[in-house]
Amino acid sequence: MKPSHVLTLALLAGGIPAAEGKEAWAAMAIPMPGEAQVIGSAAAGCVRGAAALALDGENYQVLRPSRHRNWAHPSTVRFIRDLSALAGREGVKGVLIGDMGQSRGGPMPSGHASHQNGLDVDIWFRLAPEHLEHAEIESPRPVAMVANGHMNRATWTPAQARLVELAAQAPEVERIFINPMIKQALCRANPADHRGWLRKLRPWWGHDEHFHIRLACPTDSPGCEPQKPIPEGDGCGAELDSWLNKPTSPAPPSKPHIQSRALPEACDALLKAK
Ligand SMILES: [Zn+2]
Repeated sequence: MKPSHVLTLALLAGGIPAAEGKEAWAAMAIPMPGEAQVIGSAAAGCVRGAAALALDGENYQVLRPSRHRNWAHPSTVRFIRDLSALAGREGVKGVLIGDMGQSRGGPMPSGHASHQNGLDVDIWFRLAPEHLEHAEIESPRPVAMVANGHMNRATWTPAQARLVELAAQAPEVERIFINPMIKQALCRANPADHRGWLRKLRPWWGHDEHFHIRLACPTDSPGCEPQKPIPEGDGCGAELDSWLNKPTSPAPPSKPHIQSRALPEACDALLKAK
């Protein structure tokens, strides 16, 4: 069959070719109105009734605002505001918020396979106690916590460790993707009776300039696809070793977490509505 026929059939069947779909989702300037609903999964999903995180708030700034990726389910927005404010009260000053999602969620043309259903947010390890100016907010300089396979003691400080812990302690947070070297540092720094929260830290290469928080399905969203439960235990033993002992350790796969899948049918309406 000619490619054009395949395309026609896909369109007749209501499917949207992946590449075209990403641009269409990115072009959605405003959220789909209505009650907030997470639909599908982080890797194949969308969100209705998304809210925008204000670009500047108590103890945080949103990076690269021109990308318009400061949208999420309202509970995610609330979580980010609360976490930043709490961090500020604990002396962790100047939280920098990376990508959340698009106004109706869905796949992005660049950068992430996930972040599609309004439950994901990247938070940078770099802190900016001094307010960043516009130019730097648009092209921020990331700061790595790991250098040559070791923690960089100049950049990894108690403030970063505290920020990760505060995020992991939040009940609505289900998992946090973080570099295995960083998880190892946190495992070593915390006594056995204070490691429960480390369970949520899921090792993944990369993720040494930011950590990636994923919230659990909110109770208002029956169409939210729950994630696989995380393994029991703090993950500081064999699981972490399995990452750290890989022969070519930081050889990050280019697209982490998951690959793209077809979106749930319920997302079609969000793409078609004005
Ligand atoms: Zn991310």
